[in-house]
Amino acid sequence: MSLLEVKNLQVRVDEREILHGLSLTVNPGEVHAIMGPNGSGKSTLSHVIAGKPGYEVTGGEILFKGENLLEMSPDERAAKGVFLAFQYPVEIPGVATMTFLRTALNAQRKARGESEFSTPDFLKKVREVAKSLNIPQDMLRRGVNVGFSGGEKKRNEVLQMALFEPSLCILDEMDSGLDIDALRVAADGVNALRSPDRAMVVITHYQRLLNYIVPDFVHVMSKGRVVKSGGKELALELEASGYAQFEAAA
Ligand code: ADP
Ligand code: MG
Ligand code: MG
Repeated sequence: MSLLEVKNLQVRVDEREILHGLSLTVNPGEVHAIMGPNGSGKSTLSHVIAGKPGYEVTGGEILFKGENLLEMSPDERAAKGVFLAFQYPVEIPGVATMTFLRTALNAQRKARGESEFSTPDFLKKVREVAKSLNIPQDMLRRGVNVGFSGGEKKRNEVLQMALFEPSLCILDEMDSGLDIDALRVAADGVNALRSPDRAMVVITHYQRLLNYIVPDFVHVMSKGRVVKSGGKELALELEASGYAQFEAAA
Protein backbone atom coordinates (compact mmCIF):
# COMPACT_ATOMS: atom_id res chain seq x y z
CA MET A 1 0.00 0.00 0.00
CA SER A 2 1.22 3.50 -0.75
CA LEU A 3 1.85 5.76 2.19
CA LEU A 4 0.28 8.82 0.58
CA GLU A 5 -2.03 8.92 -2.40
CA VAL A 6 -3.23 12.28 -3.62
CA LYS A 7 -5.73 11.74 -6.42
CA ASN A 8 -7.01 14.45 -8.70
CA LEU A 9 -7.06 16.98 -5.84
CA GLN A 10 -8.93 20.22 -6.40
CA VAL A 11 -8.67 22.97 -3.80
CA ARG A 12 -10.15 26.42 -3.47
CA VAL A 13 -9.18 29.37 -1.35
CA ASP A 14 -11.64 32.25 -1.17
CA GLU A 15 -13.69 30.94 -4.12
CA ARG A 16 -10.58 30.74 -6.28
CA GLU A 17 -9.35 27.34 -7.44
CA ILE A 18 -5.66 26.95 -6.59
CA LEU A 19 -5.07 23.22 -7.18
CA HIS A 20 -6.67 21.90 -10.35
CA GLY A 21 -6.52 18.12 -10.19
CA LEU A 22 -3.19 17.28 -8.60
CA SER A 23 -2.05 13.68 -8.21
CA LEU A 24 0.94 12.36 -6.29
CA THR A 25 1.83 8.91 -4.91
CA VAL A 26 4.48 8.48 -2.22
CA ASN A 27 5.68 5.11 -0.96
CA PRO A 28 7.48 4.40 2.31
CA GLY A 29 11.22 5.11 2.15
CA GLU A 30 10.95 7.47 -0.81
CA VAL A 31 12.10 11.07 -0.94
CA HIS A 32 10.12 13.24 -3.35
CA ALA A 33 11.05 16.78 -4.28
CA ILE A 34 8.35 19.20 -5.38
CA MET A 35 9.68 22.15 -7.29
CA GLY A 36 7.98 25.00 -9.04
CA PRO A 37 7.76 28.77 -9.29
CA ASN A 38 6.30 30.95 -6.59
CA GLY A 39 2.53 30.78 -6.58
CA SER A 40 2.30 27.35 -8.22
CA GLY A 41 0.49 25.89 -5.19
CA LYS A 42 3.27 24.02 -3.37
CA SER A 43 2.44 25.40 0.08
CA THR A 44 -1.27 24.96 -0.56
CA LEU A 45 -0.69 21.25 -1.16
CA SER A 46 1.35 20.87 2.04
CA HIS A 47 -1.24 22.81 4.07
CA VAL A 48 -4.11 20.69 2.76
CA ILE A 49 -2.24 17.49 3.62
CA ALA A 50 -1.56 18.76 7.15
CA GLY A 51 -5.16 19.93 7.56
CA LYS A 52 -4.61 23.65 7.92
CA PRO A 53 -7.98 25.44 7.93
CA GLY A 54 -9.05 27.85 5.21
CA TYR A 55 -8.86 25.48 2.24
CA GLU A 56 -11.89 24.00 0.55
CA VAL A 57 -11.37 20.65 -1.13
CA THR A 58 -13.82 20.58 -4.03
CA GLY A 59 -12.68 17.36 -5.70
CA GLY A 60 -10.38 14.36 -5.48
CA GLU A 61 -9.10 12.56 -2.41
CA ILE A 62 -6.10 12.04 -0.16
CA LEU A 63 -5.41 8.61 1.29
CA PHE A 64 -2.83 8.12 4.01
CA LYS A 65 -1.99 4.50 4.82
CA GLY A 66 -5.19 3.70 2.94
CA GLU A 67 -7.38 5.94 5.12
CA ASN A 68 -9.24 9.09 4.11
CA LEU A 69 -6.96 11.82 5.41
CA LEU A 70 -9.40 14.62 4.63
CA GLU A 71 -11.83 13.33 7.27
CA MET A 72 -9.23 13.64 10.04
CA SER A 73 -8.52 16.66 12.24
CA PRO A 74 -5.00 18.14 12.04
CA ASP A 75 -4.16 16.51 15.40
CA GLU A 76 -5.34 13.11 14.20
CA ARG A 77 -3.20 13.48 11.10
CA ALA A 78 -0.16 14.29 13.21
CA ALA A 79 -0.88 11.33 15.47
CA LYS A 80 -1.12 9.07 12.41
CA GLY A 81 2.33 10.20 11.35
CA VAL A 82 2.01 13.31 9.19
CA PHE A 83 4.58 15.98 9.98
CA LEU A 84 4.74 19.37 8.30
CA ALA A 85 7.69 21.68 8.81
CA PHE A 86 6.39 25.15 8.04
CA GLN A 87 7.99 27.65 5.74
CA TYR A 88 7.71 30.26 8.48
CA PRO A 89 7.96 28.64 11.95
CA VAL A 90 5.92 30.38 14.65
CA GLU A 91 7.46 31.89 17.74
CA ILE A 92 5.85 31.08 21.09
CA PRO A 93 7.24 33.39 23.76
CA GLY A 94 6.98 32.13 27.33
CA VAL A 95 6.84 28.45 26.38
CA ALA A 96 10.17 26.68 26.71
CA THR A 97 11.08 24.54 23.72
CA MET A 98 11.43 21.53 26.03
CA THR A 99 7.90 21.99 27.42
CA PHE A 100 6.45 22.49 23.95
CA LEU A 101 8.09 19.31 22.67
CA ARG A 102 6.93 17.27 25.62
CA THR A 103 3.33 18.51 25.42
CA ALA A 104 3.15 17.90 21.67
CA LEU A 105 4.78 14.48 21.85
CA ASN A 106 2.56 13.30 24.68
CA ALA A 107 -0.57 14.60 22.95
CA GLN A 108 0.34 12.49 19.92
CA ARG A 109 1.07 9.41 22.02
CA LYS A 110 -2.24 9.82 23.82
CA ALA A 111 -4.13 10.14 20.53
CA ARG A 112 -2.54 6.86 19.43
CA GLY A 113 -3.57 5.19 22.68
CA GLU A 114 0.04 4.99 23.87
CA SER A 115 1.22 5.89 27.36
CA GLU A 116 2.64 9.36 27.92
CA PHE A 117 6.35 9.78 28.61
CA SER A 118 7.28 10.38 32.24
CA THR A 119 9.47 13.44 32.86
CA PRO A 120 12.70 11.46 33.30
CA ASP A 121 12.00 9.29 30.24
CA PHE A 122 11.19 12.33 28.13
CA LEU A 123 14.31 14.20 29.31
CA LYS A 124 16.45 11.20 28.51
CA LYS A 125 14.98 10.89 25.04
CA VAL A 126 15.10 14.57 24.14
CA ARG A 127 18.71 14.87 25.34
CA GLU A 128 19.72 11.84 23.31
CA VAL A 129 18.07 13.13 20.16
CA ALA A 130 19.36 16.70 20.67
CA LYS A 131 22.88 15.38 21.10
CA SER A 132 22.69 13.32 17.94
CA LEU A 133 21.66 16.47 16.04
CA ASN A 134 24.25 18.72 17.72
CA ILE A 135 21.56 20.85 19.33
CA PRO A 136 22.84 22.64 22.44
CA GLN A 137 20.87 22.03 25.65
CA ASP A 138 20.40 25.76 26.23
CA MET A 139 18.33 26.02 23.07
CA LEU A 140 15.82 23.62 24.63
CA ARG A 141 15.31 25.98 27.58
CA ARG A 142 14.61 29.04 25.44
CA GLY A 143 11.10 30.06 24.33
CA VAL A 144 9.96 28.22 21.19
CA ASN A 145 11.77 29.81 18.24
CA VAL A 146 12.11 33.11 20.16
CA GLY A 147 15.27 34.83 18.98
CA PHE A 148 16.32 31.67 17.14
CA SER A 149 18.39 32.21 14.02
CA GLY A 150 17.03 30.74 10.78
CA GLY A 151 19.37 27.79 11.24
CA GLU A 152 18.28 27.21 14.85
CA LYS A 153 14.61 27.22 13.83
CA LYS A 154 15.30 24.54 11.24
CA ARG A 155 17.27 22.51 13.75
CA ASN A 156 14.37 22.79 16.16
CA GLU A 157 12.11 21.40 13.43
CA VAL A 158 14.47 18.55 12.72
CA LEU A 159 14.48 17.86 16.47
CA GLN A 160 10.67 17.73 16.48
CA MET A 161 10.76 15.39 13.52
CA ALA A 162 13.24 13.08 15.21
CA LEU A 163 11.15 12.99 18.41
CA PHE A 164 7.74 12.52 16.78
CA GLU A 165 9.00 9.78 14.44
CA PRO A 166 6.47 10.58 11.68
CA SER A 167 6.02 8.32 8.67
CA LEU A 168 5.60 11.27 6.31
CA CYS A 169 7.66 14.45 6.63
CA ILE A 170 6.77 17.43 4.49
CA LEU A 171 9.42 20.13 4.39
CA ASP A 172 8.12 23.33 2.86
CA GLU A 173 10.97 25.51 1.63
CA MET A 174 13.18 24.64 4.56
CA ASP A 175 15.98 26.36 2.66
CA SER A 176 14.39 29.82 2.72
CA GLY A 177 16.46 32.23 4.76
CA LEU A 178 19.29 29.78 5.45
CA ASP A 179 22.92 30.44 4.69
CA ILE A 180 24.88 27.58 3.18
CA ASP A 181 26.25 26.29 6.51
CA ALA A 182 22.83 26.28 8.17
CA LEU A 183 21.38 24.60 5.10
CA ARG A 184 23.94 21.84 5.34
CA VAL A 185 23.26 21.27 9.05
CA ALA A 186 19.50 21.12 8.48
CA ALA A 187 19.93 18.81 5.48
CA ASP A 188 22.23 16.51 7.46
CA GLY A 189 19.54 16.29 10.13
CA VAL A 190 16.90 15.42 7.54
CA ASN A 191 19.17 12.85 5.91
CA ALA A 192 19.78 11.23 9.29
CA LEU A 193 16.02 10.68 9.51
CA ARG A 194 15.70 8.97 6.14
CA SER A 195 14.59 5.40 6.70
CA PRO A 196 12.88 2.58 4.79
CA ASP A 197 9.58 3.16 6.61
CA ARG A 198 9.56 6.96 6.41
CA ALA A 199 8.92 9.12 3.38
CA MET A 200 9.82 12.76 2.80
CA VAL A 201 8.33 15.38 0.56
CA VAL A 202 10.80 18.20 0.10
CA ILE A 203 9.30 21.36 -1.34
CA THR A 204 11.73 23.84 -2.76
CA HIS A 205 11.97 26.66 -5.22
CA TYR A 206 15.69 26.16 -5.80
CA GLN A 207 17.76 23.19 -6.87
CA ARG A 208 20.44 23.97 -4.26
CA LEU A 209 18.76 22.08 -1.40
CA LEU A 210 18.61 18.94 -3.52
CA ASN A 211 22.41 18.81 -3.65
CA TYR A 212 22.19 17.99 0.05
CA ILE A 213 18.93 16.08 0.25
CA VAL A 214 19.06 13.92 -2.86
CA PRO A 215 15.53 12.93 -3.90
CA ASP A 216 14.39 9.70 -5.53
CA PHE A 217 11.74 11.56 -7.53
CA VAL A 218 11.28 15.16 -8.65
CA HIS A 219 7.93 16.71 -9.57
CA VAL A 220 7.45 20.08 -11.18
CA MET A 221 4.36 22.02 -10.21
CA SER A 222 2.97 24.81 -12.28
CA LYS A 223 -0.33 26.60 -11.80
CA GLY A 224 -1.82 24.06 -9.44
CA ARG A 225 -0.82 20.84 -11.17
CA VAL A 226 2.11 18.46 -11.40
CA VAL A 227 3.27 19.07 -14.95
CA LYS A 228 6.33 16.84 -15.05
CA SER A 229 7.81 14.04 -12.92
CA GLY A 230 11.17 12.34 -13.16
CA GLY A 231 14.27 11.29 -11.28
CA LYS A 232 16.79 13.50 -9.52
CA GLU A 233 18.26 14.56 -12.87
CA LEU A 234 15.09 16.57 -13.52
CA ALA A 235 16.16 19.05 -10.82
CA LEU A 236 19.44 19.67 -12.64
CA GLU A 237 17.62 20.16 -15.94
CA LEU A 238 15.43 22.76 -14.27
CA GLU A 239 18.42 24.54 -12.83
CA ALA A 240 19.72 24.89 -16.38
CA SER A 241 16.48 25.64 -18.23
CA GLY A 242 14.20 27.31 -15.65
CA TYR A 243 10.47 27.02 -15.17
CA ALA A 244 9.30 29.11 -18.12
CA GLN A 245 8.82 26.07 -20.41
CA PHE A 246 6.25 24.66 -17.96
CA GLU A 247 4.49 27.96 -17.43
CA ALA A 248 3.71 28.03 -21.13
CA ALA A 249 2.55 24.42 -21.19
CA ALA A 250 0.34 24.62 -18.08
P1 ADP B 1 3.75 28.35 -3.60
O1 ADP B 1 3.94 27.73 -2.28
O2 ADP B 1 4.06 27.43 -4.74
O3 ADP B 1 4.50 29.64 -3.73
P2 ADP B 1 1.06 28.89 -2.70
O4 ADP B 1 0.42 27.59 -2.43
O5 ADP B 1 1.57 29.66 -1.54
O6 ADP B 1 2.20 28.69 -3.80
O7 ADP B 1 0.03 29.80 -3.48
C1 ADP B 1 -0.65 29.37 -4.66
C2 ADP B 1 -1.64 30.41 -5.08
O8 ADP B 1 -2.69 30.47 -4.14
C3 ADP B 1 -1.08 31.81 -5.19
O9 ADP B 1 -1.64 32.43 -6.32
C4 ADP B 1 -1.54 32.48 -3.92
O10 ADP B 1 -1.71 33.85 -4.12
C5 ADP B 1 -2.85 31.78 -3.64
N1 ADP B 1 -3.14 31.70 -2.21
C6 ADP B 1 -2.50 30.92 -1.32
N2 ADP B 1 -2.98 31.08 -0.08
C7 ADP B 1 -3.98 31.98 -0.19
C8 ADP B 1 -4.90 32.57 0.73
N3 ADP B 1 -4.88 32.26 2.02
N4 ADP B 1 -5.79 33.46 0.25
C9 ADP B 1 -5.82 33.78 -1.06
N5 ADP B 1 -4.99 33.25 -1.97
C10 ADP B 1 -4.09 32.38 -1.57
MG1 MG C 1 5.52 30.93 -2.21
MG1 MG D 1 5.18 28.19 -0.64
